[in-house]
Amino acid sequence: MQSFQPPRRILMGPGPSDVSPRVLAALARPTIGHLDPEFQTFMEDTKAALSRLFNAPDHACIPLPAPGTAGMEAAMMNLLEPGDRCVVAVNGAFGGRMADMAGRAGATVVTVDHDWGQPVDPARVETALAEAPTKVLAFVHAETSTGARSDAAALCGLARKHGALSVVDCVTSLGGVAVDVAAWDADFVYSGTQKCLSAPPGLSPVAISKRAQAAITGRKEKVRNWLLDFNLIMAYWGGDGGRTYHHTAPINALYGLHESLVAIFEEGVQAASVRHARMHEALAAGIEAAGLRFLVDAKWRLPQLNTVIVPDGVDEAAVRAHVLKRWDLELGAGLGPLKGKVWRIGLMGASATPWHVRLCLTALCEALAAQGVKADVEQALAAADAKLG
Ligand SMILES: *Cc1c(COP(=O)(O)O)cnc(C)c1O
Repeated sequence: MQSFQPPRRILMGPGPSDVSPRVLAALARPTIGHLDPEFQTFMEDTKAALSRLFNAPDHACIPLPAPGTAGMEAAMMNLLEPGDRCVVAVNGAFGGRMADMAGRAGATVVTVDHDWGQPVDPARVETALAEAPTKVLAFVHAETSTGARSDAAALCGLARKHGALSVVDCVTSLGGVAVDVAAWDADFVYSGTQKCLSAPPGLSPVAISKRAQAAITGRKEKVRNWLLDFNLIMAYWGGDGGRTYHHTAPINALYGLHESLVAIFEEGVQAASVRHARMHEALAAGIEAAGLRFLVDAKWRLPQLNTVIVPDGVDEAAVRAHVLKRWDLELGAGLGPLKGKVWRIGLMGASATPWHVRLCLTALCEALAAQGVKADVEQALAAADAKLG
């Protein structure tokens, strides 16, 4: 057996994104015991930083010890009991996953289905909420499978109005576009580390409101999932001093998350979201100058996830294979109904720089030219540079 030496790649797919050297270096710091007093101080610091990033001063903010999907599973398993009604807005793959999980939690699931590429329609969600008392309204803020952003403030407001708890998937939005849990008055918000936070995958930061906590502690039956049972996990993450063993925190992974939070506050959360918007504008100008089109209407486009329609006659997978081989560049494929029809280009966290924009345009135009499609790289780069200034 030999050590694994991964190739150097440029990550511009739907996640993971490029991890900066300072975060990689943090991962290699010495492992200490998870009940070490120094580690407990570090846990408190991490909680405070998450609560600042989510803008959730009154929520319980902790990182769950598994990838973004664990946040989704924790939300559904903790909030739902058999027979509860759960309305799920589905406008892509992750909304579909939420509905599947809600069903596994024993809920009566009502989906509000949308065409992929559309934002969630608050009017249709309200109709579903008005039909019967609902325990949970779940939706995805930034649908990574399509690149569409939905109006989280409006949807959380509807949940409040109809007495439901809101579950908001912010896996791709956190760190890339504004996430304001306090202003939304959201109940269970979860994210991931490998999208716009640019840490390695494997952790799921969550923010849980007082209302949601009361619903969990007041359950009729135990949470069926032991690891993610909020009542048990908070005895580990919640108390200062009185911390008892629950699981062994992924210590070094948490160093990585912590360093990525230090980096985002150094830059400024607002500045980071402006950077994502600028890089998106430059990429979009270049993409359009090259003769390509976007799936999502400009108004609802996510800057960090650009869904570009594959032109007729172009082999979608061959283009991705070309840019990977020639440029070490990873682009994302379409999922579900969009398979073979789109590329998903991520501009997330450390992968949202002018250099990434130019590299992507250059590589993409070259790959298209290799298939005999006219895509003018000089025009694409000039259009992007005009936006980058
Ligand atoms: C990536 C992603 C997830 C799942 O996160 P994992 O870390 O892959 O488990 C969930 N929701 C959305 C919107 C995502 O983009």
